[in-house]
Amino acid sequence: MSIISKDISKAVALLNQEKLVAIPTETVYGLAGNIFSEKAIDSIFKTKQRPLFNPLIVHIPSIDYLETIVARIPEKAKLLAEAFWPGPITLVLKKKEVIPDVITAGKDTVAVRIPNHPTTLELLKQLDFPLAAPSANPFNRISPTSAEHVESYFKNDIKMVLDGGTCTSGIESTIIGFENDEPIIYRLGSTSIEDIENIVGSVEIKNKKNSVPNAPGMLARHYAPNTKTILVTDISDAIKQFQGKNIGILAFENEIKNKAIKFQIVLSKTGNVSEAATNLYSALHQLDEQDLDIIIAERLPNHDIGKSINDRLQRATK
Ligand code: AMP
Ligand code: MG
Repeated sequence: MSIISKDISKAVALLNQEKLVAIPTETVYGLAGNIFSEKAIDSIFKTKQRPLFNPLIVHIPSIDYLETIVARIPEKAKLLAEAFWPGPITLVLKKKEVIPDVITAGKDTVAVRIPNHPTTLELLKQLDFPLAAPSANPFNRISPTSAEHVESYFKNDIKMVLDGGTCTSGIESTIIGFENDEPIIYRLGSTSIEDIENIVGSVEIKNKKNSVPNAPGMLARHYAPNTKTILVTDISDAIKQFQGKNIGILAFENEIKNKAIKFQIVLSKTGNVSEAATNLYSALHQLDEQDLDIIIAERLPNHDIGKSINDRLQRATK
């Protein structure tokens, strides 16, 4: 029997029993549990096989709730929350004692956001606690952007995927921390740097492994298909190096005409980077199912969400 259901009250009941429910958000599906339940949080790490040094994002119902869990809100954090929540931006702030250490991997900061999905906002309203919800995929695998993706990963491990359709933003939230109250981007994501800088002025980016060693979203290899994947600027040129192989193509805007190609997906026929983001993980899931020898992905224009997609594709390569 399918574990996919639209029944919010069933999700509430399971979460109140310290069980896990996969939930829809605008970015990707999350594997959610009560942040105050040791049992639920332990299940999240075990189910995902996620290393304990990798902290979880806390999903809250409203800006007002922020004071319950964070000790200090810098002025620019307030501006960003007001501008983008509910939405795909995560703020890393000094935590209050109520936040268990296992959520933050022992750090004195907590990552928090309000997701922009009507089903999950309703769910959060009906609960007495926030939800920890890392992406609902086994550690290092492609993030799920549909209820079916989650079901194929975890049908034997969890009781329910709350169905909210296909995720509209398609890649994870942008993560912002604060150093001396100034915003720093720790992970590129669904909110563009351009939009962020419109609100708070210029921001520094520190998304390399050596600058944020405890942040596995920044690991050099992450978000990866099983099939060998490369990221290139010129697809036709790259195809020449794989003569006789089963070649899959992930193109941005224009279909590549070449007989050597076995399977091809174009991310956005109108060349729209946001549409490309929406389709990215689903395309990688499909390519990975085709029994290919190589996936050749085309680098996107390096602006707006194109930058975040290039970041994910780089981490998908091996
Ligand atoms: P996800 O796996 O998409 O839920 O993202 C979780 C990511 O949030 C982690 O891998 C970290 O990169 C980041 N994160 C969570 N909490 C913190 C924190 N306290 N400090 C810095 N980064 C954090
Ligand atoms: Mg993840």
